[in-house]
Amino acid sequence: MMNSRFTLSAIQAADARRHMNTFGSRLPILAVAGEGSWLIDENGRRYLDLIGGIAVNVLGHDNAALTAALADQAERLIHCSNLVYNPWQTELAVRLCEATGMDRVFFGNSGAEANEGAIKLARGYHVEQGRPRARVLSATDSFHGRTLATVTATGQPKYNQKFAPLPPGFSYLPFGDAEALTAAMDDEVACLILELIQGESGIHPLSREYVSLARRLCDESGALLVIDEIQSGMGRTGRFTACQLYDVRPDILTLAKGLGGGVPIGALLATEEAARGFVPGDHGSTFGGNPLACRAALTVLDEYERLGLTARAAEAGRRFCEALSPAVSDAGPLVEIRGAGLMLGLELATATTAGGAVAVRNRLLAADGILVNSIGQTTLRLLPPLVITDEEIDFASRAIMGALQE
Ligand SMILES: *Cc1c(COP(=O)(O)O)cnc(C)c1O
Repeated sequence: MMNSRFTLSAIQAADARRHMNTFGSRLPILAVAGEGSWLIDENGRRYLDLIGGIAVNVLGHDNAALTAALADQAERLIHCSNLVYNPWQTELAVRLCEATGMDRVFFGNSGAEANEGAIKLARGYHVEQGRPRARVLSATDSFHGRTLATVTATGQPKYNQKFAPLPPGFSYLPFGDAEALTAAMDDEVACLILELIQGESGIHPLSREYVSLARRLCDESGALLVIDEIQSGMGRTGRFTACQLYDVRPDILTLAKGLGGGVPIGALLATEEAARGFVPGDHGSTFGGNPLACRAALTVLDEYERLGLTARAAEAGRRFCEALSPAVSDAGPLVEIRGAGLMLGLELATATTAGGAVAVRNRLLAADGILVNSIGQTTLRLLPPLVITDEEIDFASRAIMGALQE
């Protein structure tokens, strides 16, 4: 199927010349196919994918139901527009509201767009209340996307300072600091946007106390609580949303990544009250909620039910943690394992791990054909497909233990 001129070196050369230089040099893998939790390169070499397309390939790489639904939908109707109704969009809205406990939804095409919509909705809500509020609070080290507003909400100067002037009204709370949160909340705050478990920064969960304080302070001040579940949602933590894990109902919730099983789609969800922030004409999307993307997401939800994937994520996460826990000790190679379900961060003890996380990542790739994500010098992030099997977890854990011990 693949043309022979698509060799890794030819692609690397053309990519370096023709793609904008945003990714630097990538892992030396030319991915041309996939099977379950495995990525396959042009020579047929198989890689166990513990990155899962960055939490996107929740069903793995060649789920038969998803493939069949996409083929069928492509024959029926790929796109119409939001000037007309389409049944898949409406059915998906109904099912997502049921699964998340929210009341209304708006579909976009990515995580950043969902969060961009969340910020607009929060400000719009206060305008509709007759008392505009501009301030948006977010956490340090957070990640909310790459558009100008979402990269500004992202509490990492390295991602946004270059693109100044940034939209005004954004400020940052030290991650997990209850006192700073209490001091910052007032009646100028339009919304507080949080990841319950920070993903991009290396899997850092907030405490339950902090999250319930955030909910209470938002209620008291009238600010909207926006929970960004673009990474933690879709069953990854062992509950359909991490909000369910933390027992918190946000005013606004965003989903993307795993939602379409690889087909680009994002969702902005809100309570009936918060959804009043948008009136006709306030927001829109050409592609958002199109039949193909919604059919994909509906099929993902069907497969979750058929395979019990949310519960499976919890069980699989426990199996990973049990296998890796012997590495966590005072003199051991791991300081801690953070996260929930199949959203795991392994914190390396730098003193005992020569070369740090990048070296461990490279060793796993070269020696075992296992793909993991390294963050900074000390963190490995695991976001495997939720269909990963016990055998694959055991194989991966043994390899990781070996790579850590070296
Ligand atoms: C990936 C991610 C985003 C951005 O999603 P894109 O689809 O890349 O725009 C936003 N928030 C969180 C928590 C994410 O993990």
